[in-house]
Amino acid sequence: MSVAVYACNPAQTRGRRYPEQPAPTRSEFQRDRDRIVHCTAFRRLVYKTQVFLNHEGDLFRTRLTHSLEVAQIGRSIARPLGLNEDLVEAIALAHDLGHTPFGHAGQDALNECMAGHGGFEHNLQSLRVVDRLEERYPAHDGLNLTFETREGILKHCSRRNAQLLEQSEPGGVGRRFLDRTQPSLEAQLCNLADAVAYNAHDIDDGVRSGLISLGQLSEVPLFERHRRAAVAEHPDLMATGRARRLLYEAIRRMLSEQVYDVIAATRALIDQVQPSSADAARASIALVRFSPDMHVQSSQLKHFLHAWLYRHPQVMQTTGQAQQMVRELFGAYMAQPASMPPDYAQREDLHRAVADYIAGMTDRFAAREHERLTGRKLL
Ligand code: MG
Repeated sequence: MSVAVYACNPAQTRGRRYPEQPAPTRSEFQRDRDRIVHCTAFRRLVYKTQVFLNHEGDLFRTRLTHSLEVAQIGRSIARPLGLNEDLVEAIALAHDLGHTPFGHAGQDALNECMAGHGGFEHNLQSLRVVDRLEERYPAHDGLNLTFETREGILKHCSRRNAQLLEQSEPGGVGRRFLDRTQPSLEAQLCNLADAVAYNAHDIDDGVRSGLISLGQLSEVPLFERHRRAAVAEHPDLMATGRARRLLYEAIRRMLSEQVYDVIAATRALIDQVQPSSADAARASIALVRFSPDMHVQSSQLKHFLHAWLYRHPQVMQTTGQAQQMVRELFGAYMAQPASMPPDYAQREDLHRAVADYIAGMTDRFAAREHERLTGRKLL
């Protein structure tokens, strides 16, 4: 695999917070990927909501399958661009580790509960998981990942939190939010691959759930163009009982077009800017991107999903109940810290301890705990 000068090179990593000997056969980014796959928070992703709550059906995406799809799309783009695939995979697999149960509903509720106590941001929480909350090593908390993987995991961060990070780690992963510079190209790529992945799989899950229809999707040009092309090539896809194959074929074509679009648009920008190193790429404008035309089409799809899926009354109803559950759980643990395990109950900052404890829960564990502590069953 030839890696470009502008890619992150594991032999020139900015390193780990606790220095370690190199591994005999694996690169530093491979080690990061392996640590992520083996950590507890990674296994919990399988029982965490993406859009549909975990109990609503076995075939919907969860945070785990979403993360695997982001890694697949990311690697497909990384290789032809000469970016470091192992780093892309590590970032993709870790990018959602900090998500609360019940998806964005859970995170919004937790953020409200933490108002006045530092708030709650899932990207920052993903970093907390790999830096502090995983307990697997004798001499330090966290997974001790490289700077480059941590940089990619922290894809957004408020200015206030960036300042706090900068105090504890000068020149570290918070710095770019103060300087307003870009992260590595591998990190930029994971950001885009995330959107490409959920735009595609949420169409699939949305249709599977019956909340959106193929007919409605005809107003989304990016989808409709590929649906028509698929039918033109395979007219039998219009026959009864073949709707699912038609959906998959349209999504497949749509995904491929976006992947090739990112590769071409990014390659053209890189040729223009000619970054001579990973740091030169960080100092440049954002280089990993869609062509202007695809950017518009991708935004149209995103807006469609917001309007018709994420804000569908049925989704909103479960969202409301999930938020209530998180708020009530938060209140219950604040009132009786001893109902949490001792290592959370005994922490000095009780608010943050409760937030960390709830954020780590799977959907079903949160629901069980809520029932145990309140005697009521929601959802
Ligand atoms: Mg994601």
